Amino acid sequence: MKQEVDLLAIAAHRDDVELTCGGTLAKAVKAGHRVGVVDLTQGEAGTRGDAATRAAEAERAAKVLGVHVRLNAALPDAHLENNETSRLKVVTLIRQAKPRVVILPFPVGRHPDHRIASELGRDACYLAGLAKYGGHGEPHRPFKVLYALAYREDPVKPSFVVDISDVFETKMTAVRCYGSQFDGAKAAGEIHPTGQDLYELIRVQSAHYGSLIRRPYGEPFFCHETLEVQDVLQLGVQSL
Ligand SMILES: [Zn+2]
Repeated sequence: MKQEVDLLAIAAHRDDVELTCGGTLAKAVKAGHRVGVVDLTQGEAGTRGDAATRAAEAERAAKVLGVHVRLNAALPDAHLENNETSRLKVVTLIRQAKPRVVILPFPVGRHPDHRIASELGRDACYLAGLAKYGGHGEPHRPFKVLYALAYREDPVKPSFVVDISDVFETKMTAVRCYGSQFDGAKAAGEIHPTGQDLYELIRVQSAHYGSLIRRPYGEPFFCHETLEVQDVLQLGVQSL
Protein backbone atom coordinates (compact mmCIF):
# COMPACT_ATOMS: atom_id res chain seq x y z
CA MET A 1 0.00 0.00 0.00
CA LYS A 2 1.27 3.47 -0.88
CA GLN A 3 2.19 5.23 2.39
CA GLU A 4 2.86 8.72 1.03
CA VAL A 5 0.37 11.45 1.87
CA ASP A 6 -0.07 15.21 1.40
CA LEU A 7 -1.51 15.86 4.85
CA LEU A 8 -0.63 13.94 8.02
CA ALA A 9 -2.28 14.32 11.43
CA ILE A 10 -0.22 13.08 14.38
CA ALA A 11 -1.84 12.68 17.81
CA ALA A 12 -1.41 10.78 21.05
CA HIS A 13 -4.53 8.62 21.14
CA ARG A 14 -6.87 6.96 18.71
CA ASP A 15 -9.89 9.32 18.54
CA ASP A 16 -7.83 12.50 19.14
CA VAL A 17 -7.69 13.49 15.46
CA GLU A 18 -11.42 12.83 14.97
CA LEU A 19 -12.21 15.18 17.85
CA THR A 20 -9.82 17.99 16.91
CA CYS A 21 -9.42 17.90 13.12
CA GLY A 22 -11.64 15.13 11.70
CA GLY A 23 -13.58 17.59 9.57
CA THR A 24 -10.40 19.09 8.14
CA LEU A 25 -9.10 15.63 7.25
CA ALA A 26 -12.39 14.63 5.57
CA LYS A 27 -12.43 17.93 3.68
CA ALA A 28 -8.86 17.40 2.44
CA VAL A 29 -9.81 13.91 1.22
CA LYS A 30 -12.82 15.39 -0.61
CA ALA A 31 -10.51 17.94 -2.25
CA GLY A 32 -8.47 15.06 -3.69
CA HIS A 33 -5.49 15.13 -1.33
CA ARG A 34 -3.94 12.04 0.17
CA VAL A 35 -4.42 12.09 3.93
CA GLY A 36 -2.85 10.05 6.73
CA VAL A 37 -3.06 9.67 10.50
CA VAL A 38 -0.38 8.59 12.97
CA ASP A 39 -1.71 7.54 16.38
CA LEU A 40 1.25 7.51 18.75
CA THR A 41 -0.22 5.04 21.28
CA GLN A 42 -2.59 2.07 21.25
CA GLY A 43 -4.86 3.15 24.07
CA GLU A 44 -3.91 0.34 26.45
CA ALA A 45 -4.09 2.69 29.49
CA GLY A 46 -7.55 4.07 28.71
CA THR A 47 -10.24 3.79 31.38
CA ARG A 48 -12.80 2.58 28.84
CA GLY A 49 -12.31 -0.09 26.17
CA ASP A 50 -9.16 -2.08 25.45
CA ALA A 51 -6.47 -1.65 22.78
CA ALA A 52 -8.04 -4.19 20.40
CA THR A 53 -11.49 -2.56 20.58
CA ARG A 54 -9.96 0.86 20.01
CA ALA A 55 -7.96 -0.45 17.03
CA ALA A 56 -11.15 -1.68 15.37
CA GLU A 57 -12.91 1.62 16.15
CA ALA A 58 -9.98 3.62 14.71
CA GLU A 59 -10.08 1.58 11.53
CA ARG A 60 -13.81 2.21 11.10
CA ALA A 61 -13.37 5.93 11.77
CA ALA A 62 -10.55 6.14 9.20
CA LYS A 63 -12.85 4.60 6.60
CA VAL A 64 -15.57 7.12 7.41
CA LEU A 65 -13.17 10.06 7.05
CA GLY A 66 -11.71 8.50 3.90
CA VAL A 67 -8.11 8.77 5.12
CA HIS A 68 -5.74 6.69 3.02
CA VAL A 69 -3.19 5.63 5.66
CA ARG A 70 -3.50 5.12 9.42
CA LEU A 71 -0.32 4.12 11.25
CA ASN A 72 0.37 3.43 14.92
CA ALA A 73 3.70 4.16 16.62
CA ALA A 74 2.90 1.79 19.54
CA LEU A 75 4.43 4.15 22.12
CA PRO A 76 3.33 3.74 25.77
CA ASP A 77 -0.13 5.21 26.44
CA ALA A 78 -0.22 7.67 29.39
CA HIS A 79 3.58 7.40 29.57
CA LEU A 80 4.43 9.15 26.32
CA GLU A 81 7.91 10.67 26.32
CA ASN A 82 9.81 12.85 23.90
CA ASN A 83 13.02 10.83 24.00
CA GLU A 84 15.51 9.29 21.57
CA THR A 85 13.47 6.09 21.11
CA SER A 86 10.16 7.84 20.44
CA ARG A 87 11.73 10.47 18.15
CA LEU A 88 13.36 7.74 16.04
CA LYS A 89 10.01 5.96 15.64
CA VAL A 90 8.14 9.11 14.64
CA VAL A 91 10.94 10.27 12.32
CA THR A 92 10.71 6.94 10.49
CA LEU A 93 6.91 7.25 10.11
CA ILE A 94 7.21 10.84 8.81
CA ARG A 95 9.80 9.74 6.27
CA GLN A 96 7.44 6.96 5.14
CA ALA A 97 4.47 9.28 4.80
CA LYS A 98 6.40 12.30 3.36
CA PRO A 99 3.63 14.83 4.17
CA ARG A 100 3.75 18.45 2.99
CA VAL A 101 1.55 19.57 5.92
CA VAL A 102 1.42 18.08 9.43
CA ILE A 103 -1.31 18.70 12.02
CA LEU A 104 -0.19 18.32 15.66
CA PRO A 105 -1.99 18.73 18.99
CA PHE A 106 -1.80 22.18 20.58
CA PRO A 107 1.37 22.52 22.74
CA VAL A 108 -0.70 22.97 25.92
CA GLY A 109 -3.07 20.21 27.01
CA ARG A 110 -5.00 18.72 29.90
CA HIS A 111 -3.66 15.21 29.20
CA PRO A 112 0.16 15.06 29.49
CA ASP A 113 0.29 12.81 26.39
CA HIS A 114 -1.26 15.64 24.33
CA ARG A 115 1.47 18.10 25.34
CA ILE A 116 4.22 15.53 24.75
CA ALA A 117 2.73 14.50 21.39
CA SER A 118 2.86 18.13 20.27
CA GLU A 119 6.53 18.56 21.18
CA LEU A 120 7.53 15.10 19.99
CA GLY A 121 5.72 15.65 16.68
CA ARG A 122 7.38 19.00 16.06
CA ASP A 123 10.86 17.72 16.92
CA ALA A 124 10.37 14.66 14.71
CA CYS A 125 9.22 16.85 11.79
CA TYR A 126 12.49 18.77 11.99
CA LEU A 127 14.76 15.78 12.64
CA ALA A 128 13.18 13.76 9.79
CA GLY A 129 14.85 16.24 7.43
CA LEU A 130 18.36 15.66 8.75
CA ALA A 131 20.22 13.29 6.40
CA LYS A 132 22.55 11.99 9.11
CA TYR A 133 20.04 11.81 11.99
CA GLY A 134 19.51 8.05 11.80
CA GLY A 135 16.33 6.03 11.60
CA HIS A 136 15.02 4.54 8.38
CA GLY A 137 14.09 6.18 5.10
CA GLU A 138 15.06 9.16 2.96
CA PRO A 139 15.28 12.55 4.72
CA HIS A 140 12.02 14.50 4.51
CA ARG A 141 10.98 17.67 6.33
CA PRO A 142 7.30 18.69 6.18
CA PHE A 143 6.78 22.20 4.77
CA LYS A 144 4.15 23.30 7.27
CA VAL A 145 3.25 22.42 10.86
CA LEU A 146 -0.23 23.33 12.17
CA TYR A 147 -1.63 22.93 15.67
CA ALA A 148 -5.22 21.83 16.24
CA LEU A 149 -6.65 24.37 18.70
CA ALA A 150 -10.13 22.92 19.20
CA TYR A 151 -11.54 22.95 22.77
CA ARG A 152 -8.48 24.71 24.24
CA GLU A 153 -9.21 27.58 26.60
CA ASP A 154 -5.80 29.24 26.32
CA PRO A 155 -5.92 32.91 25.38
CA VAL A 156 -4.79 32.13 21.84
CA LYS A 157 -6.79 33.34 18.86
CA PRO A 158 -6.95 30.80 16.04
CA SER A 159 -4.59 31.67 13.18
CA PHE A 160 -7.42 30.42 10.94
CA VAL A 161 -10.56 28.30 11.06
CA VAL A 162 -11.34 25.60 8.47
CA ASP A 163 -14.97 25.64 7.30
CA ILE A 164 -16.13 22.06 7.94
CA SER A 165 -19.85 22.71 7.39
CA ASP A 166 -20.12 20.35 4.41
CA VAL A 167 -18.28 17.51 6.19
CA PHE A 168 -19.59 18.04 9.72
CA GLU A 169 -21.84 14.96 9.63
CA THR A 170 -18.87 12.90 8.38
CA LYS A 171 -16.82 14.14 11.36
CA MET A 172 -19.63 13.18 13.76
CA THR A 173 -20.03 9.75 12.16
CA ALA A 174 -16.28 9.20 12.62
CA VAL A 175 -16.44 10.35 16.25
CA ARG A 176 -19.39 8.01 16.87
CA CYS A 177 -17.25 5.05 15.73
CA TYR A 178 -15.61 5.26 19.18
CA GLY A 179 -18.59 3.88 21.06
CA SER A 180 -16.34 2.30 23.70
CA GLN A 181 -14.99 5.74 24.54
CA PHE A 182 -17.87 8.12 23.96
CA ASP A 183 -21.31 6.51 24.26
CA GLY A 184 -22.83 8.06 27.37
CA ALA A 185 -19.70 10.17 27.96
CA LYS A 186 -19.90 13.75 29.24
CA ALA A 187 -16.27 14.72 28.51
CA ALA A 188 -13.29 13.53 26.46
CA GLY A 189 -9.71 14.57 25.77
CA GLU A 190 -9.56 18.34 26.07
CA ILE A 191 -13.36 18.71 26.29
CA HIS A 192 -14.48 19.64 29.80
CA PRO A 193 -17.85 18.37 31.04
CA THR A 194 -20.89 20.67 31.15
CA GLY A 195 -23.43 17.97 31.92
CA GLN A 196 -24.42 17.75 28.24
CA ASP A 197 -23.91 14.68 26.08
CA LEU A 198 -20.40 14.59 24.53
CA TYR A 199 -21.71 14.49 20.96
CA GLU A 200 -23.77 17.62 21.68
CA LEU A 201 -20.70 19.31 23.19
CA ILE A 202 -18.71 18.66 20.02
CA ARG A 203 -21.53 20.10 17.89
CA VAL A 204 -21.80 23.22 20.06
CA GLN A 205 -18.04 23.80 20.07
CA SER A 206 -17.80 23.25 16.30
CA ALA A 207 -20.64 25.73 15.79
CA HIS A 208 -18.80 28.28 17.92
CA TYR A 209 -15.62 27.97 15.83
CA GLY A 210 -17.74 28.13 12.68
CA SER A 211 -19.31 31.37 13.90
CA LEU A 212 -15.84 32.96 13.98
CA ILE A 213 -15.77 32.67 10.16
CA ARG A 214 -19.56 33.17 9.73
CA ARG A 215 -20.13 29.52 8.82
CA PRO A 216 -22.19 26.80 10.50
CA TYR A 217 -19.25 24.65 11.66
CA GLY A 218 -15.47 25.04 11.86
CA GLU A 219 -12.22 23.65 13.26
CA PRO A 220 -9.63 26.15 14.62
CA PHE A 221 -5.87 25.98 14.06
CA PHE A 222 -2.83 27.84 15.31
CA CYS A 223 0.49 28.24 13.53
CA HIS A 224 3.58 30.12 14.65
CA GLU A 225 4.33 31.60 11.22
CA THR A 226 2.52 34.58 9.75
CA LEU A 227 0.10 33.57 7.01
CA GLU A 228 0.70 35.06 3.57
CA VAL A 229 -1.92 36.94 1.53
CA GLN A 230 -1.40 37.88 -2.14
CA ASP A 231 -4.72 39.63 -2.79
CA VAL A 232 -6.57 41.41 0.02
CA LEU A 233 -9.73 41.40 -2.11
CA GLN A 234 -9.97 37.62 -1.74
CA LEU A 235 -10.11 37.78 2.08
CA GLY A 236 -13.16 36.13 3.63
CA VAL A 237 -15.07 36.75 6.89
CA GLN A 238 -17.11 39.95 7.05
CA SER A 239 -15.83 42.61 9.47
CA LEU A 240 -18.94 44.72 10.12
ZN1 LIG B 1 -6.13 12.04 23.68
